[in-house]
Amino acid sequence: MAKEKTYKHVDEMRPWNDKEHLLECVAWTPETADVMTFTFKPDQPGHWFRYQPGQFLTLELPVGPDPVMRTYTISSTPSRPYTIQVTAKAQKDSIGTRWMMEHLKPGMKLKAYGPVGDFSYVRHPGDKYLFISAGSGITPMMSMTRDLSDREPDSDIAFIHCARSPNDIIFRWELEYKARHMPHFALGFIVEQLERSQLWTGLKGFIDRAKISLLAPDFLDRKVFCCGPAPFMATVRDALQNAGFDMDNYHEEAFLPAAAPAPLVVPVYADGEAPTKVTFALSGKEGQCEPGFTLLQAGRANGVRIAAACESGLCGTCKVIKLKGEVDMQHNGGILDEEIEEGYILACCSRPLTDVEIEA
Ligand SMILES: Cc1cc2nc3c(=O)[nH]c(=O)nc-3n(C[C@H](O)[C@H](O)[C@H](O)COP(=O)(O)OP(=O)(O)OC[C@H]3O[C@@H](n4cnc5c(N)ncnc54)[C@H](O)[C@@H]3O)c2cc1C
Repeated sequence: MAKEKTYKHVDEMRPWNDKEHLLECVAWTPETADVMTFTFKPDQPGHWFRYQPGQFLTLELPVGPDPVMRTYTISSTPSRPYTIQVTAKAQKDSIGTRWMMEHLKPGMKLKAYGPVGDFSYVRHPGDKYLFISAGSGITPMMSMTRDLSDREPDSDIAFIHCARSPNDIIFRWELEYKARHMPHFALGFIVEQLERSQLWTGLKGFIDRAKISLLAPDFLDRKVFCCGPAPFMATVRDALQNAGFDMDNYHEEAFLPAAAPAPLVVPVYADGEAPTKVTFALSGKEGQCEPGFTLLQAGRANGVRIAAACESGLCGTCKVIKLKGEVDMQHNGGILDEEIEEGYILACCSRPLTDVEIEA
C-alpha cells in the first residue's frame, strides 16, 4: 500500500536552525563539464530551510578515514525553502568536490554546518544592484537573483558574468530566461575564448571598466556584489575605484580553499606567559591551551574534535558557545555581530585571555 503523505504548509513546518544538520541528497545535475549542482532535503521531514540568499554552508565529506570539510555557497533561494542546493566546481586535483561528483548519490546523507555569511543583499540592501561574478563565483549572485525574482520581480539588477567560454557559463539558460521575464534585469556575459566557428553575441576578453560601463552604464549608482578568483576581484575593485565609485557600496566574497589543520608546535613561553585552562563542556574534558594557541588547537591537543574548515575565521564552521572566560577573537567575517552578542565565538581564531569554558 502506498505510504500516506500529509501535505504541510510552510507555517506548519519547523525551520532549519543554524548549527549542525544532516542533509539528504535527492538529486545531482551537471551544469557544465566541471560543475554540478547537488540538491538536498532535510533528513527529518517537516523542516524547511531558513537562510539568507548569498550565505554558505560547510559540508563534511567522507572522502577517506578522516572526513574533509568543504564550504559551498547555497545556490538555491530561500524563497523556495523545501530543498537546498549547492553548485560545485571541481578544481584541478580536487579532493572534496571530485568526491561529491563521483560518489554523492540520492539517498546519501552529509553533515552540514551553517548557514553563515553576510554577503547578501539582505544585509546590504540597495535600490539597484550590480552583480559581477566569474566561474563558480556566480553561486551567491544566482541565489540573490532567484530570491529577488521571486520576492520582488521588478528589482533593478545588472548581472555581469565572466567565464572561460560560452560552454562554461553556469546557469546560462535560467539567467537568459530571467532576462526575458524580469522587466529591469540586464544580463551581460564576457568570455575569454570561443570554440572554432562558435556563434557568440556577448562580449569577449577580460572584464575592465569599459565593459562594465557598456553592460551597466549607471554602475556608479548601484550596490555592487562581486565574487570570483582573487585577481578577478582585484581588477573589478581597481576599475570601480578609478571610476570614482563609492567603495562603501562594494561587497565581495572570496572562495578561499579549505586550510590544512594548523600544526601543534611546541610552545615557547615568553616572560610571564602561562597556559590557560580550557573546559570542553559537551565532551566533559578539561585541558590546557598553550599561549598563542587557538581554542581549535587546544581542542585537538586535548582530544576534542571541533569541526572546522577554513581555519581563518571566515567560514564559521567552528562556531561554538563560550560559557565562561575571555578570548581574543580575530575573525574575518565568519561570525555575525548578533551571534557574538548571543555568546558564540569561532574556535579557529579565538585565543584565551583567561581560563575558558566552551560548549564543545
Ligand atoms: C565562503 C566560501 C564559499 C564557497 N562557495 C563555493 C561554491 O559555491 N562553489 C564552489 O565550487 N566552491 C566554493 N568555494 C570553494 C570551495 O570551498 C573549495 O575550496 C573548492 O571547491 C575547492 O575544493 P576541492 O575539494 O575541489 O579542491 P581541494 O581538494 O581543496 O584542492 C584541490 C586543488 O585546487 C586548489 N584550489 C582549491 N580551491 C581553489 C579555488 N577556490 N581556486 C583555485 N584553486 C583552488 C588547491 O590549492 C589544490 O591544488 C567556497 C569557498 C568559500 C570560503
